[in-house]
Amino acid sequence: MDLGTHLFTGVITASLWPSLDLRQKILVVLFSILPDCTEWLNYFSLKKHNGDSHFSIDEYSKLSREIKNPFSLTYSLLHSIFTPLIFFIISIIFNWSLVFSMMWFMHLLLDLPSHKVKLGLKLWWPLSQQRLKGFFDWWHVKFFNSWELWGYWTLLAVISFIIVKNFW
Ligand SMILES: [Zn+2]
Repeated sequence: MDLGTHLFTGVITASLWPSLDLRQKILVVLFSILPDCTEWLNYFSLKKHNGDSHFSIDEYSKLSREIKNPFSLTYSLLHSIFTPLIFFIISIIFNWSLVFSMMWFMHLLLDLPSHKVKLGLKLWWPLSQQRLKGFFDWWHVKFFNSWELWGYWTLLAVISFIIVKNFW
């Protein structure tokens, strides 16, 4: 999903999860977008490589395959079910809060239906290269390509601000 929705689920989770201190709450919000961070680095490095010109999703996928950089390899890793699962097990062993691995799972749960064929999640990577087919590509939905997105993000930001101010 889009950055705003992911961050908002982080704010909600951090608010509802019992007995987290402020530092942990901020970490939960960061974890809500952690799986996508290297994808943005990949995007910017490909954009730079492409002379800063705009590219379609097909060109983006093609460039990602052709130009291997460290960021392009991590997307599959960070969006595989095994990464938060291993993190979940480590959290149990070291007695860390389970909210972080749960947040990671939730990121994948949000991405699953909102990433269709070409950028569908390789949930079982590295055991399988198969992409799971979601219902739609969120970046192709008109709502997320126009001014409504900024209205939506502003609304989420205002609600988040009220929640943080009153409950954190
Ligand atoms: Zn993602």
